[in-house]
Amino acid sequence: MSSVQPLYLGFDIGASSVKWGYGNCKQGLLSFASIAILQRDLAGLRAIFHNVIEQVDKSVGLYNIHGIGIGTPGTIDLASGKIQGVNPHLAFWSDLSPTILIPTGINKPVFYDNDANLMCLGESTLWEAADHILGITVGSGIGSGFVSGKKVYRGAHGYALELGHITMVESGVMCNCGRAGCLEAYSSVDGIKRRALSLGRYPDAIGWNLQDILNNALHDSELEGFIAEGERLLAMALMHATMILDPQLIILGGGGMDGGLYDAQRIDQMLQNALPKVNKGQTRVQRAKAGNRAGVLGALTLAERNLS
Ligand SMILES: [Zn+2]
Repeated sequence: MSSVQPLYLGFDIGASSVKWGYGNCKQGLLSFASIAILQRDLAGLRAIFHNVIEQVDKSVGLYNIHGIGIGTPGTIDLASGKIQGVNPHLAFWSDLSPTILIPTGINKPVFYDNDANLMCLGESTLWEAADHILGITVGSGIGSGFVSGKKVYRGAHGYALELGHITMVESGVMCNCGRAGCLEAYSSVDGIKRRALSLGRYPDAIGWNLQDILNNALHDSELEGFIAEGERLLAMALMHATMILDPQLIILGGGGMDGGLYDAQRIDQMLQNALPKVNKGQTRVQRAKAGNRAGVLGALTLAERNLS
């Protein structure tokens, strides 16, 4: 391995952990680690970034890091550069710029974007044959991003690809965003937990992890039905997105996919069945290759692409 290749540092802020690593587009991720967020405030998040940067300086030397990329929950408003929307798991993390996490005195260019956009950008570097890629993350919410011509599509204001909040069921289940019938209310892990709570027999459902959902669904046909509905509505949403974006590839990632909530092959079959004849077979669904590392890979790719 040559050490003369420029390195970039990537961060991926999640609801419960900060993942990070360094590398570059050519060599991929050369390191990867995940740190649990124990102190849920700005000082706690800053301390994690401070420690990582110190660790990187010791291992490869900060002078070898040419830029920093950060993936974050929430939408980045293009005009202000600030995070919009509040993640229920990180309530303090809104209406600010992610650059405030980088300690003063670290004179490196910093780039940032929504985590699902960067998951899609990271995955796109691993699927060289495709240049129009839709990426979906199934986790506590539903995230999505679209990469075309090696770039994330942002829309006019930065709010493009909010697929989690398209209305799938008119007057349907209430969503975290305050509207009814969103895809996220049906297909996200938290959405299914809230539906389980509504059954009345699982008072602790909100505290469940993914395995708890799957275990309980084994002997509860209503809960099993919620999962099946989540998968079916996700496939329908992908059909709508395909009609608008015409991607070659739809990548499904996030904790829900890693944990086996949905099956990518079955979703691909449902998508093919739902598409008009002319589109059949042109857009395929695949599981994410980089798993939970895609966001970090996307973050450092964002920094590298902006600097080269
Ligand atoms: Zn919504």
